Amino acid sequence: MDKLSEILKKIEAPLLFLSKDSYKKLTMVKKFESSMSGLVQLLKSTYNADGYTTSIRDTLQKTTAELEKSFVGFDALQPEIQKEKVAHALKLVKIIQQLEDKIEQQPSDGTNINSSVDIHVDHKKSFEMLSLPVQYVKGVGPKISQLLGRKNIATVEDLLYFLPRKYEDRRYIKKISVLDVGRRETVIGHIVESRIQHYRRTRAYEVTVDDGSGLLTAKWFHGNFAYLKNILKKEQRVIVTGEVKGYGFGKEMIHPDYEVLTAKDNELLHFKRIVPVYSETAGLHQKYMRKIMMQTINDYSHNVLSPIPDDISRRQQLIDMVAALRNVHFPNADQSIDSYNRFVSASHRRIIFDEFFFFELGMALKKQGYVVERGIAFKTDGSLVRKLFDILSFELTNAQKRVVAEIDADMENPHPMNRLLQGDVGSGKTIVSMVAMVRACENEYQSAIMAPTEILAEQHYTNIKRWAKSLGLNVALLTGSTKAKERKEILQHIEQGTVSIIVGTHALIQEGVTFHKLGFIVIDEQHRFGVIQRATLREKGISPDVLVMTATPIPRTLAMTVYGDLDLSVIDELPPGKKPIRTKVFYEDHRDRVYEIVRKELGKGNQAFIVYPLVEESEVLDLKDATSMAQHLQEDIFPEFKVGLVHGKMKSLEKSTVMKEFQRGELNILVSTTVIEVGIDIPTASLMVIEHAERFGLSQLHQLRGRVGRSDLPSYCLLIAHKVGTDDARKRLRIMEQTNDGFKIAEEDLVIRGPGEFMGIRQSGLPDFRVAHILRDATLLNDARKEAFLLVQRDPFLEKPEHIVLKEILLRRWAGRLELAKTA
Ligand code: ADP
Ligand code: MG
Repeated sequence: MDKLSEILKKIEAPLLFLSKDSYKKLTMVKKFESSMSGLVQLLKSTYNADGYTTSIRDTLQKTTAELEKSFVGFDALQPEIQKEKVAHALKLVKIIQQLEDKIEQQPSDGTNINSSVDIHVDHKKSFEMLSLPVQYVKGVGPKISQLLGRKNIATVEDLLYFLPRKYEDRRYIKKISVLDVGRRETVIGHIVESRIQHYRRTRAYEVTVDDGSGLLTAKWFHGNFAYLKNILKKEQRVIVTGEVKGYGFGKEMIHPDYEVLTAKDNELLHFKRIVPVYSETAGLHQKYMRKIMMQTINDYSHNVLSPIPDDISRRQQLIDMVAALRNVHFPNADQSIDSYNRFVSASHRRIIFDEFFFFELGMALKKQGYVVERGIAFKTDGSLVRKLFDILSFELTNAQKRVVAEIDADMENPHPMNRLLQGDVGSGKTIVSMVAMVRACENEYQSAIMAPTEILAEQHYTNIKRWAKSLGLNVALLTGSTKAKERKEILQHIEQGTVSIIVGTHALIQEGVTFHKLGFIVIDEQHRFGVIQRATLREKGISPDVLVMTATPIPRTLAMTVYGDLDLSVIDELPPGKKPIRTKVFYEDHRDRVYEIVRKELGKGNQAFIVYPLVEESEVLDLKDATSMAQHLQEDIFPEFKVGLVHGKMKSLEKSTVMKEFQRGELNILVSTTVIEVGIDIPTASLMVIEHAERFGLSQLHQLRGRVGRSDLPSYCLLIAHKVGTDDARKRLRIMEQTNDGFKIAEEDLVIRGPGEFMGIRQSGLPDFRVAHILRDATLLNDARKEAFLLVQRDPFLEKPEHIVLKEILLRRWAGRLELAKTA
């Protein structure tokens, strides 16, 4: 069968489906973008086949590119716009279909049909089945599919990966007469009586269950009695699970889990087994979920392909994927329920490994892309760097020396470097990047360093210029506020190569900036830059080396997933003599003490930051805000000092004017929100006060704290906590008192808040795993990463026949986010 038309049909089908009933079904779609772009990728792959004239191929490619564009960001669009996009996409599909008719087919001799082609067709069929809307599942109507939608379940695949929240042991149904008080047990019986019982202080809804051997009372003190009364009626057969309590001579369960059973119910689905319990949503009950799930497993689970090579499966003791999916929903009776409840059963492991493996496989290929790309082989024995070391007023720490050596090795290598340098605030990243930039310059290349804000760019410029001057290197500064005339001159210098080091903000990646010979790029504070920008700057050079620097210590497990395509260097040592910032937690009622300390510190001629979580007063949140507090502090508390204010709602020029006043010492106190930059250098700022410290993540507190302690003045950080009710919040803030180690703090933060909430990670593109959890499953992540990288080492482009399906699945999972390794 003709491949192109086949794929087109697959693209057309869901579009037609959506366009029916005046687009009513649009509300049901989810992840439309990813499933469609997967198909578009497949479509593109067919264009390389023979039989196309150049002009047809051109038109095909253009039309397809447009088709692809119509799905970009689709899921987040307004329904009105989605409608237009679907209609447009349908038109484009028609165009491609017509074009296809014009293609002269090469006569086929029929001999080149091999098994890999069969697999090819097969897996596409599977993809199609998995992408079907849930409504295709028998027993799922519009109402249920809407309820599932609330759980973000739109497709058959979503449903299969919607794993039980926990498992209930209903293998052994006991007779009421032999129930053990104090144990969690399950019984089945008929309701013989139901009533609202009045106690002295409260009421309960109660039902008496009879199983022929005895009576058991189930009691609900909370909940909607009317609802319970409606559900749990006399004569109904019920299954209840809960802890058995003795009550007088009788036995009872308080707030048991229960389900009403009917004659139609498949007993083996709901009891006499380990039973899955799903996260519920109103109107979607356990019994329903189980039924739907069993149906889905039976009809669709075989479409989940996970062709992890045999040798890996053996080493990692992976069971069959389809069996794993079945088991994870409906474990066999002989399994350990405990391992299921802890998500460590063989079935869980298989599914989690699969998620990690395909993710890491993508990472490995991306990295491979850098490795095979030709880059610059710098020489690292030049005299200019030696001269730089001579003029430095200090010696590098061991950690700095180690990182310099790591970078040197990368630079010598004839492939582009892509390295992430992590180091706490003040650990001395700038000089390390300077060494590398000078290295590039002595090889007659240009270097660029890009900072997230103008102030930081200017700060870098000042430091770098001082060093560069003694080395005879020209430095230029290019930011958004560089005046037009000056900008023109600078651009000329950059283009002609008369400047060697270019410092700037994102202005560097704008159009019109052409480098003479860009060989080395430093990106400071990665978090503020999107990946796209990283790529854009990279394109400005001839496969230049890239060093990304961040002061946000990212725990290893996370760094591997977020930046898995980069190599990692860490400066884990502070320059000698750097004193820890002494930190103390105060509670609201000791506010006066805090002001006293501030006054004393300012009296010594030092400066203080006071940080607030909000800009303005909020009606919803009872929080102190920067604007009104700045006024209050100036007028009522510190009339003898000068108080300034910066916050995120100010224009950037306004902001930097105030920052500069503070930098020059014209302000004693700077009140701000969290906008003050990481890495800002204000030597006489020795005190940091953070209000509502309980509202910030630990990593964020640590970063804020790093704005002080930039000189040898003893520095302090005072955390003011408001209404800290929970022990957790208290314990959290104690960590800040106990350590200045950013990595330790980040680890704690990660454990407390989970990866999703961990500062800045979301923007950095941490993938949403369906089942896997990078902390809980860190060991598996490690194993999957190792195996994926090994596989790419053996088959760098995944082009061996046995890896064809693997590659297709990879592309589908990454859906457009993966530029596969370029062939050298
Ligand atoms: P960050 O890693 O936060 O960017 P910087 O590069 O700004 O840190 O360095 C902080 C300060 O420490 C700077 O004043 C820098 O000159 C100084 N410094 C860096 N390395 C050393 C060292 N090995 N010995 C002494 N001082 C150092
Ligand atoms: Mg810095």
